[in-house]
Amino acid sequence: MKKNTDHKYAQELDSQDPLAEYRNRFYIDDPDLLYLDGNSLGRLPQATIPHLMDVVENQWGKNLIRGWNQGWFEKPIQLGSKLAKLIGAEPDEVLVCDTTSVNLFKLTAAALQYQGDRSILLSDEFNFPSDLYIFQGVIELLGNRHRLHLLQSEDSITIGEELIQDEINEDTALVALTQVAFKSAFMYQMEEVTRLTHQAGGLVLWDLSHSVGVVPLKLTEWGVDLAVGCTYKYLNGGPGAPAFLYVRKELQNQLKTPIWGWFADQSPFEFNLEFRPAEGINRFQISTPHILSMAGIEPALDILLEVGIDTLREKSLQQTEYLIYLAQEWLIPHGFQIGSPLDGTRRGSHVSLRHPEAYRICRAMIDPTPGEATIRVIPDFRTPDNIRLGIAPLYTTFSDIHRALFRIKTILEVGSYLEYSKQQLKVT
Ligand SMILES: *Cc1c(COP(=O)(O)O)cnc(C)c1O
Repeated sequence: MKKNTDHKYAQELDSQDPLAEYRNRFYIDDPDLLYLDGNSLGRLPQATIPHLMDVVENQWGKNLIRGWNQGWFEKPIQLGSKLAKLIGAEPDEVLVCDTTSVNLFKLTAAALQYQGDRSILLSDEFNFPSDLYIFQGVIELLGNRHRLHLLQSEDSITIGEELIQDEINEDTALVALTQVAFKSAFMYQMEEVTRLTHQAGGLVLWDLSHSVGVVPLKLTEWGVDLAVGCTYKYLNGGPGAPAFLYVRKELQNQLKTPIWGWFADQSPFEFNLEFRPAEGINRFQISTPHILSMAGIEPALDILLEVGIDTLREKSLQQTEYLIYLAQEWLIPHGFQIGSPLDGTRRGSHVSLRHPEAYRICRAMIDPTPGEATIRVIPDFRTPDNIRLGIAPLYTTFSDIHRALFRIKTILEVGSYLEYSKQQLKVT
């Protein structure tokens, strides 16, 4: 069938989708709730429900403290070695622990201290604010010897690698970037940026929060030094599930983590009074692992590993392209702009649509007034004018995309968003 805007075409794409059955592995109670926010909080895998029950009832309830010797103690490294397969790392290069922000703090401080007199921390204006705050805080803590330099975008959607090449020099300590920008979905060529940074003697630290689970990565092969990322977005690990960190093998014993907790020690249960950092990746832990919050990660990872990251990326690209096509046909005429790269090789798995009334349009998508529509569309809003639509190839259907975009078109045609307040809710 030739590409067109009919719903039949979306259904045809769904019927040819080799991943279609994976949607059934997720808990979906309302087919009229079109969830396009898997990039902020992934859906609940069906298998996670009995697994959580098992961890609570059997492991905690029955094993009690003995649980620590029955798998809990090794959880950060065991889950890390599984996650390593998704990002092209070695099993002993990844730990699941703490939050993305805390891990970023640990690795940023470690990298800046390691780099001695080099004083520039290079990042960009697309970075997630928490990342930038962490950089600012680390710089202050280290005595304001470093300067944070932010690359600026010319078109508010992309940043060219040539810009990085121009900015990196013998004073660059660390290049710390989020690979897929949270607003525009612009994606850096990680291998190229890593190469440029190393050429100048800098270290590179990638935030993979919006890449992991949807973008193929080869951290070890590309020589990436450091990385962090979330597990509750495309990895579907559950709200507040612990994050991960990656440290290249050869660097591990050369870096010093800034938080000296007992789980970073060589031998926590010897209760030594002097800290002796553990060899290898374990020195980047702090303390007692969050066993209950981590429990959702494993069943979710198993699904992603079963499908394989290349297959996921292929579907994700096909779906973001389809979404952009419908937006061009239906929404541009209503004053929308595409806020994401049109070149798929430079785009993550979400698409930003920009409109001066984006906030109120989002409200109308999420909460239609009674009688106005039976479907609800869940995007998220990112100030000032972005409606972000996330594609999670494991469970997003082409039909979801069609229905969601048709709904936005209707909201604009009818003008129903005008009835909503411009006052913003706390979490958008
Ligand atoms: C989601 C996200 C975070 C969130 O960090 P937390 O510490 O989990 O709150 C950080 N950085 C980026 C780039 C993100 O997308």
